[in-house]
Amino acid sequence: MKFTERLIEWYKHYKRDLPWRNTTNPYYIWLSEIILQQTRVNQGLSYYYKFTQNFPTIYILASADIDFVLKNWQGLGYYSRARNMHFTSQEVVNKYNGKFPAEYHELLKLKGIGPYTAAAVSSFAFGLPFAVVDGNVIRVLSRVFGIDIAYDTTSGKNHFNAFAQELILNTNPAIYNQAIMDFGSIQCKFKNPECVICPMCDFCVAFKKGLVKDLPYKSKRINKKITYLHYFIVSNQNSVWMQKRTEKLWRGLYDFPFLEFAEKYSIKYIQNTKEWQDLFFGFDINIKSISKTIVHHLTHKKIYAKFWYIDSNDFIKKDYVTIHKNRLINLPVSRLIEKSLNINIH
Ligand code: SF4
Repeated sequence: MKFTERLIEWYKHYKRDLPWRNTTNPYYIWLSEIILQQTRVNQGLSYYYKFTQNFPTIYILASADIDFVLKNWQGLGYYSRARNMHFTSQEVVNKYNGKFPAEYHELLKLKGIGPYTAAAVSSFAFGLPFAVVDGNVIRVLSRVFGIDIAYDTTSGKNHFNAFAQELILNTNPAIYNQAIMDFGSIQCKFKNPECVICPMCDFCVAFKKGLVKDLPYKSKRINKKITYLHYFIVSNQNSVWMQKRTEKLWRGLYDFPFLEFAEKYSIKYIQNTKEWQDLFFGFDINIKSISKTIVHHLTHKKIYAKFWYIDSNDFIKKDYVTIHKNRLINLPVSRLIEKSLNINIH
């Protein structure tokens, strides 16, 4: 087929030299795929090196402390991926003798491994013909073949999965998968694809019909929830109060006491709320300063955060622990808390 031939030819000239491409070790391939989900390759590279250096084998990752795994993951977001990764490493060690199963459907049974990662590991490590389907692949297929089905619907997903599976090169699925991923991120980019110098331009439907900006087609837009977070960095000499989060978002990471509001309130108003009273009533506190608002984006949330720097000699809260300020750097924290640490703890 013209598409596959041109794709492979393009890949021979333009492929990216990435460390996880030079191995068939399923552990390294799995690490890279989990790190690269929703992460740019440039950013993912440093994490890949860090993980392969600190956890060179699946046995070392499986026996590592979860805090250390989360610390290594810090900044990548989506912390459930790191927790699942740790859990899966233990499962592979205990249930599969430390070896990833060389079977697509068996890989799918592991926590944190969905169809995309199972296809990547089974094709790159074991040469099995399973097509990867991610945003890059959907963009390329929808444009080249003029597919205008919304990819964020169940029928759209099924359509793209089935079509990608039809196209895969059975003789070399690993090369085919790598080629289409690279083609999507280098040539057929989301913004400003390089159509004029593209090897597909003589038969690409989107290019010929002027639909490049319209494809791939998406049915919904995500409306981000807006929230106002007030963090309280309560210091007693050289220590601050923190707790390990149990909520779904940022579970397992360390956090300062905080109050969350759905609306923007003044500093004075907040100090008169019931929530403030519940947190601080009966304690002798001295508010030293309040940071400017920091805007932080998550996939479904836009956070406006302020950090209050407070001194208190008698503040004690159940579920919170005191952490020496020198230790803060070693704790796993969200990117938002990391920003506050850069502001400086007074
Ligand atoms: S011609 Fe443009 S839209 Fe079509 S595959 Fe090439 S880069 Fe993508």
